[in-house]
Amino acid sequence: MKRLVRITIILSLICIGIVGITILINNRLEQAARADEVQQSNNSNAGVEEDQQDNLNENNDNEIDDLDTQENNENIDINEEDIHNNSIERIIEIVGDQVYNFDPQKALVIGNQDSLYALVNKLNELDSNYEPNDLVVPNVEFSFSGNDPKKQMRAVAADALEELLQGASQGGFRLVAVSGYRSYSRQKTIYAGNVDRMGEEAANKVSAKPGQSEHQSGLAMDVSSEGIGYSLEETLGDLPEGKWLVSHAHEYGFIIRYPKDKTSITGYNYEPWHVRYVGKELAAYLYNNKLTLDEFYEQIS
Ligand SMILES: [Zn+2]
Repeated sequence: MKRLVRITIILSLICIGIVGITILINNRLEQAARADEVQQSNNSNAGVEEDQQDNLNENNDNEIDDLDTQENNENIDINEEDIHNNSIERIIEIVGDQVYNFDPQKALVIGNQDSLYALVNKLNELDSNYEPNDLVVPNVEFSFSGNDPKKQMRAVAADALEELLQGASQGGFRLVAVSGYRSYSRQKTIYAGNVDRMGEEAANKVSAKPGQSEHQSGLAMDVSSEGIGYSLEETLGDLPEGKWLVSHAHEYGFIIRYPKDKTSITGYNYEPWHVRYVGKELAAYLYNNKLTLDEFYEQIS
C-alpha cells in the first residue's frame, strides 16, 4: 500500500513537472512571438520614417531647386538691371566705332550701313543700293493681309517685334504691325507723292527723302491699333496701347524714334507709331536718359 502511494505521488510530481514545463515553454513562445511583433512593428515604423525622410529630402530638393531658381532669377534681375544701368562707356563699347555727320550743309552716306545701331537721319543716309540681306516677315498680326515687302524686318528686329507685340498682348493691349521695310525706290515714290501733295517743306516733316528713311534699314516698324482704324496718327500716343508702347518699347530693344518733345531735334513730327530697333542696352540707355538716337551720337562724337 505504501508503495502504491509512493508511485502515485511520483506520477503526480511528474505530471506537475510536465505541465509546468509546458506552461514555461508556452510562455517563452508567447514572449518570443510578442517580441517578433514588436520588432516587426518597429520595422514598419522605421519604414514610415524612411518615407518621411525621403519626402523631407524631396522637399529639401525642391527647396534647393527653388533656391537655384531664385538665384537664377536674381541673376536675370541683375542682368536686366545691368542693361538698365549701363554706363555711357559700356554703351559706346556696344555701338562700336560709329562716326556720323552733324554738318547741316550736307548729307553723307553712312559708313557701316548694316550696324544695328546705325543713325539714319537727314544728315546720314543709306546708299540707294543698300538692302539688308537678312529680311524676314515677323510672326505678328498685320493691319492688312497678303504678301508685301513692307511686312519685312531684319531678322533680329523681327524677333524683337514678335516679343514686343506679345508683351503688349500680355498687358492687355493689341498692337498690330502696319509698315516695316521700304526700299530706296519705294521711299522715292512716297516722298515725291508727298511733295506733290503738300509741298516740299511740309513733306520733309512727315516723310523722309530716299536714303534717309529708317524703313530702308529694316530696323523700323510702324504699328497701330484697331481703336484708330490701324491708321498712323498722333492720337495713338493718347490711347492706352500707345502709352504702353512709350513705357515698354525699350524693354524689347525698341525706341520711339520721333518723340513729341524732340521734333526740333529729329526734324520730324511726333510719330508715336514708329518704333526703331536698337537693341535692349542702347534702348534702355536712351529711354533712361530721355535721348533721341541723334542726340546720343552727337553727345559721343
Ligand atoms: Zn515709320
